[in-house]
Order: sequence, then structure tokens, then C-alpha cells
Amino acid sequence: MPMIASELPLVAGPSKGLCPAMPGPTPETGEGIEWQGWRWAKRLGPRWQHDPQGRGSWAPGLLGSLLALSMQVWEGRWRVIPYDVLPDWLKDNDFLLHGHRPPMPSFRACFRSIFRLHTETGNIWTHLIGFLFFLVLGIGYMFSPNMNYVAPIQERVVFGTFFLGATLCLCFSWLFHTVYCHSERVSRTFSKLDYSGITLLIVGSFVPWLYYSFYCSPQPQLIYLVIVCVLGITAITVSQSDHFATPQYRAVRAGVFLGLGLSGLVPTLHFLLAEGPGRAASAGQMGWLFLMALLYILGAALYAARVPERFFPGKCDIWFNSHQIFHVLVVAAAGVHLHGVSQLQAFRSSLGGACTESTVL
Ligand SMILES: [Zn+2]
Repeated sequence: MPMIASELPLVAGPSKGLCPAMPGPTPETGEGIEWQGWRWAKRLGPRWQHDPQGRGSWAPGLLGSLLALSMQVWEGRWRVIPYDVLPDWLKDNDFLLHGHRPPMPSFRACFRSIFRLHTETGNIWTHLIGFLFFLVLGIGYMFSPNMNYVAPIQERVVFGTFFLGATLCLCFSWLFHTVYCHSERVSRTFSKLDYSGITLLIVGSFVPWLYYSFYCSPQPQLIYLVIVCVLGITAITVSQSDHFATPQYRAVRAGVFLGLGLSGLVPTLHFLLAEGPGRAASAGQMGWLFLMALLYILGAALYAARVPERFFPGKCDIWFNSHQIFHVLVVAAAGVHLHGVSQLQAFRSSLGGACTESTVL
């Protein structure tokens, strides 16, 4: 049933709420109410527009409910809502039936929602904690005097690239999941940052691995580094497309990042053929590399197939859905990779950076 503006649960004057710049309604004329409602409807997106024919009323019943909802958000009293009533731009995974945040066109409301329970809580915290973890670890690697670097500046740049990629990826990710419900424009902008962050993590992971694995072969080392950078720039360019973030492109997204990661097969095979499986496993730390690849591939597969929520619709709304598991696997894979690369660094350091007959690459 259509709701008229005067029935909406408005509070008089600016509340302690989320948008202090918004003036309060004028009770005598109701103009403030209409203006406010119009402003909220505008901020919430073009789908929820005021009906110019019915002055003071809001044409579709859904619109009235959503406006009432937006007022609750303003007052800081929002409740989670089911998937069905989400606007199209917030609809991503139809196996998560309930527990979604409503559209909240206020950054303050979005950031406060970090401490509430909803479908994005797990996604935010898994990468917020991961971000802090790699930030602290990165500072340690950059400034600790006990790192035994052979070429301190070069090696700090190499490790720094990894930590920059990892921290930016995790930071863009938790920010995206926090402000995802703000508005269509903000969600689109931050999703592009989120996807660019994944590329930065992959490229940043390649750099120290290629540096230490091809330590004594500067030519293939440089060629592989240039190739992964070009592929990374291509992936970032592709992820700037507005279609890339849509649910229909889920498999394409997984494919682009999987492809970027799998481009590491060429240098891996090169290393295996040149050094042999024994040395690849010991000096080359291939075991850690394979574990890392396995974690990333498992994460990407669960993400693309939306497992386990596909088998338990509505049961994984808040915890244990595919996106959260994917987030945890990304952090774990980055940690495994860092361990492997640190072992490679320790190996080169133990040789004092020397290249002998026995070290082919
Ligand atoms: Zn995510």
C-alpha cells in the first residue's frame, strides 16, 4: 500500500543520526519532509524516484517502505533486510537470503555497521584483520635489523612490493565491503579498487619469488618480471569496466585472476627443468609455492561456484559463506607465500648472494 510522506517515521529536526547536514522537516508545511524524502530518494538511486503527479505522496508502496527504512538509517536504527527487497545494485548472491544491510547513503553509517552483524561483517573483518597483520609484518621486514639482507636496498624494494600489494589488496577489500551498501556509484568505484587490489597482490607476490628464484639469471628474471607487470596492468584495465563487477561476470572475474596467477606456471616449469625436482623442492621452496597456489585456486573455485551456500541457501547468510572462506584463503595463501619467499631469501643469504656452478638459476 502506498505510504504518504506524513506517515513516515520522521524525527523533528536534525537528529543525532547519520547525516547532520540534513535540515529537519517543517511541520507546518510538510515541505521539509518532502524535500528530505526527495533528497534521500535521490541519494538512494534513480530507481526510487518521486512521483511528480501525486504531490506529497510516494507512488510505489515499495518506495514508501524504503524511504521509511532510509529514515531509520538516518536515526541509526536500521535493521537487516532480506535479499528480495534489495535494490538491483546490492543484489549479488541470491543464496544469502537474509541479513543484508539496507542502502545507507552515509559513510558514517557504513563504517558504524562494521560493528553490527550482517552479511558483510565476516567479509569486512577477515580482511581488516589480515590487513593489520601484513601491515605490522611489513614494517618488521622493512625496518628490522635482523633480516640478513645481502643487498639491503634491493631486497627491501622486493619485499616492499609484496607487502604493498598485500596491504593494498586487503585494505581496498575491507573498505569495499564496508561502503558497498552506500550507493550504486560508491559501490562501483570501490569494487574497481577491490579488484585492482587482487591484481596488486598477485603481481606483488610474483616480484620477490622471481627475484630470489632467478637470482643468478638476471635475463629471465627481468623478462618474467616485465611479463607479469604487463599482465597485471592488463588485468587492472579490464577490471575498470562497469560490467566486470556484475554477478553475471563472476566466472570471468575468477578466470582473469586465476589466469594471472597461473601465468606463474611458465617460470615454475623453467625452474623445475633447469634445477630438477629435488633442488626445486629444497632450494626452490616449491612445496610452499604449490600450497599457496592450491589455496588460491580453492578460494577462486569456491567463490565462483558459491559453495557452500549453494547447498544451504539461507544458512550461510552471516557466517561460512563462500566469500568469507575465499577471504580467509587469500590471507592464508599470502602468508604461505611470504613464508616460502622468506625461505628463499634465507637460502640466498646463506650463500652470501654468491652464484656458483651448483646454483644454475
Ligand atoms: Zn571480498
